[in-house]
Amino acid sequence: MSDIVRTMRAYEILDSRGNPTIAVKVDLQSGVSGWARVPSGASTGAHEAVELRDGGTRYQGKGVQNACRNINEIIGPALVGMPVEAQWRIDQLLRDLDGDPQKARLGANAVLGVSLAVLNAAAASLSVPLYRYIGGTNARLLPVPLLNVVNGGVHADNNVDIQEFMLVPAGARTFAEAMRMASETYHALKSLMQERGLRTAVGDEGGFAPDLNDDREVLDFLVQAIEKAGLKPGQDMALALDVAANELLTPQGYRLSGQIRTVDQLVAFYQEILDNYPVISIEDGLAEDDWDGWHYLQQELGGRAQLIGDDLFVTNPTRILKGMEQQSANAVLIKLNQIGTVSETLEAIRLSQAHGWHTIVSHRSGETEDTSIADLSVAMNTGQLKTGAPARSERVAKYNRLIIMEAEDAQLEYAGWGAFGR
Ligand code: PGA
Ligand code: ZN
Repeated sequence: MSDIVRTMRAYEILDSRGNPTIAVKVDLQSGVSGWARVPSGASTGAHEAVELRDGGTRYQGKGVQNACRNINEIIGPALVGMPVEAQWRIDQLLRDLDGDPQKARLGANAVLGVSLAVLNAAAASLSVPLYRYIGGTNARLLPVPLLNVVNGGVHADNNVDIQEFMLVPAGARTFAEAMRMASETYHALKSLMQERGLRTAVGDEGGFAPDLNDDREVLDFLVQAIEKAGLKPGQDMALALDVAANELLTPQGYRLSGQIRTVDQLVAFYQEILDNYPVISIEDGLAEDDWDGWHYLQQELGGRAQLIGDDLFVTNPTRILKGMEQQSANAVLIKLNQIGTVSETLEAIRLSQAHGWHTIVSHRSGETEDTSIADLSVAMNTGQLKTGAPARSERVAKYNRLIIMEAEDAQLEYAGWGAFGR
């Protein structure tokens, strides 16, 4: 018989940037409980579900006391007595209680905290790991990590425009080997930057954040670092970018390296990058409402690179369907807090996979020690997970979870190049 929800409680805690966020604990009748801690983005899309923040002067307006109160006083009492395994029903009730399409009334941060804590409590009540609870016997792929090792854009106070430069150790044989290759490259990169007198302080996701002449210089550094680590660029270790182009958009066009560019010019710039560097994936190459531009980008480059919609799709099945109709991209970034419930996130993944599109489970720039996204990635066989540099514990916690899963579960295998259809 299914365990039932007895109580829940929300806490205002801190995220990795020192801003408030929500932790939720769901207690079940059996005495078992489940936790969730909610992440928070900086380069958020306009179509994302909306975080509820208190405003005022406390925590620069970022407090989440109202969102916690919504959990303790409105959501909690409504869920008490429900079977904890009724995830879809519980998520539907959360959506009905909120009533707003972007979950702005109770707050997507409140809603996700509860949805994810319920999921964790249900897994705990059955004494199975979270990935087995979600994926059952079908869960079998350890993702290729996309490790953000140079931070720019709004994630760092340097002059690099592209937000994320990621290492992709697709050529590793195991997840643990992928992490070793990535860590060795990360440290090789650090020493190369130090030799050039560059600062190696890190940005929000643990990547280095030096001032450089332009985005190509970062790519040159990365290729050198891969070689210095004794690896073959493009074979052992590839690269991925998150342009986060929303942040580059001005009324005149996209501003990159001090120049205003049209969609055609930006696509030509990406083409040149693909011609000269082992880049296999470009995320948010254009802005969130530039549907015509995305179609052109996909037509021009979709055959040779993974083109990921993050702010474009915001993990929203409706926007993903529109992207399929318009042939806007060929992959979807998956962030639980962009849509706000576990079941809508699972639906976004299912829909994308059914269409033959790759999915990449992702952290946010503001993170916590919560590791549920590592389990989600394995459960759904997404084959790819982006969760920052191999440094800073809020990032490494997810990678460490996967290292241990790999050691403990003989069924799991590393996705490798197969995750990119190669
Ligand atoms: P965010 O950045 O969490 O600040 O939105 C991550 C991303 O753009 O992928
Ligand atoms: Zn992104």
